[in-house]
Amino acid sequence: MASDTVPLRLFNSLTRRLEEFQPIHEGEARVYTCGPTVYNYPHLGNMRAYVFADVLGRTLSWKGYALTHVINITDVGHLTDDADEGEDKLEKMAAAKAQSIWDIARHYTEAFWADVKALNIRAPAQWTIATDYVPQMIEFAKAIAPKHCYELDSGLYFDVSTVADYGRLARAVTEDGEGRIDQVAGKRNAADFAIWRKTPPGETRQMEWDSPWGRGAPGWHLECSVMSGEVLGFPFDIHTGGIDHREIHHPNEIAQNQAKCCTNGLDVAANSGANIWMHNNFLVERSGKMSKSSGEFLRLQTIIDRGYHPLAYRMLCLQAHYRSELEFSWEGLQAALVRLKRMVMAHQGLIAFADRQTKARVSESFVEKVVTDVDEATSDDLATPKALLPFELLVLQGLPKFNAEVAEDVRQAIANTRLEAIERLDWVFGLNLSSTTRADLRIRPKSATITEPEIEAALARRKEARAAKDFATSDAIRDELTAQGVEVMDGDPLGWEWKLS
Ligand code: AMP
Ligand code: ZN
Repeated sequence: MASDTVPLRLFNSLTRRLEEFQPIHEGEARVYTCGPTVYNYPHLGNMRAYVFADVLGRTLSWKGYALTHVINITDVGHLTDDADEGEDKLEKMAAAKAQSIWDIARHYTEAFWADVKALNIRAPAQWTIATDYVPQMIEFAKAIAPKHCYELDSGLYFDVSTVADYGRLARAVTEDGEGRIDQVAGKRNAADFAIWRKTPPGETRQMEWDSPWGRGAPGWHLECSVMSGEVLGFPFDIHTGGIDHREIHHPNEIAQNQAKCCTNGLDVAANSGANIWMHNNFLVERSGKMSKSSGEFLRLQTIIDRGYHPLAYRMLCLQAHYRSELEFSWEGLQAALVRLKRMVMAHQGLIAFADRQTKARVSESFVEKVVTDVDEATSDDLATPKALLPFELLVLQGLPKFNAEVAEDVRQAIANTRLEAIERLDWVFGLNLSSTTRADLRIRPKSATITEPEIEAALARRKEARAAKDFATSDAIRDELTAQGVEVMDGDPLGWEWKLS
């Protein structure tokens, strides 16, 4: 661990306690995050889960742990109901669109990766694609089948009564809770789930493989157990996902991991396959536009189309604790954007003043305290709303007001020191202050009838006219721009801004 940071405490959903992070492998942090099911675009809420996992990863790296982060891509096996009823989500979408399932998976995986990039989420060490691991899934199922599974006409089922403490992670009643209506004849327990789904006789699926239990496809829960165990090794440090996964998907992963590793009760957290299970709360929206099944749903692209920079959404996420519900609103997004913009502007001012060529640095207790406060807040179960405050203070403060006696080289040294601290801390938040400009953060109306290069060209013409003292032309250009929703701002380095009605 980096010696100048405080210990990291994280809330473990399995033990329901805050726990100090103790790596299983000295100096390392191994993290698995449940990835998206790529049958559709990710909605904004899904992306909250990956901003959260990214902040966790950045915090672990900041603290000096060598991070191995794995995020999977579920391109097969996730049914329309988490508890093993219904159709495969990808098969269903492929049929509806009359497209190949592989094309659907590729298209939505790439769309997800574009959102990941736009939100400045770091790429994990590995993206594991479920269909690349089918042979390993079959091996895993073969290993646990004799003691823990039974076969029905529809597939190979996991008997949850064969492991200790089944469902301890879940908050709902697991035996007959939501989504557990037993529709499969012959299941021994309502919570038993398919780890291999046989293709019904007379049908073919676009994605199917041979197995000892007949042709078919793996169950969704099996996929994550296999990919996490294969890449990170059981037990690994941290497993993350959204709170919906705490109810069915993760209890089922845990049961499989116990079966595979021959571990017993969950009083010992590592017996579950991971030491810490973490869950982000939901992003909600009053009119229900956060559910893909509702047809029209909010995507990152929706906010970009409305003219918002995607990092405004990252700021919105950071302003809430990951374990709190976050309500989406356009007003909230606007406020997050303005907050980010103020920070970017102050940061640009400091960059303009600092001289990176000089090596001079000074120690300022104010800066040191900010770094400590940010570290303490993030170490307290990733309390980003609290951590943002001292960071913001440092950024907005910029340079102190110097009196005339302060020599130029001292001013420069202070600027350099502050800039360095801001950039180190910004790395943890991932707000990208250094490479985002005020112009990037302009809200761009979708209805714009003029492009930005055209605006810049018109302003250049106006500048020439003014230089030639041709004020009639200069005014005419300004009026034309005003009519197209562009406010010309003489004397402001930004030059112009969209005037939103
Ligand atoms: P899925 O593609 O449905 O498997 O979901 C991808 C990730 O998004 C999972 O970790 C889910 O738990 C998470 N998730 C789903 N809905 C929301 C939401 N409204 N807010 C935050 N996370 C969500
Ligand atoms: Zn998963």
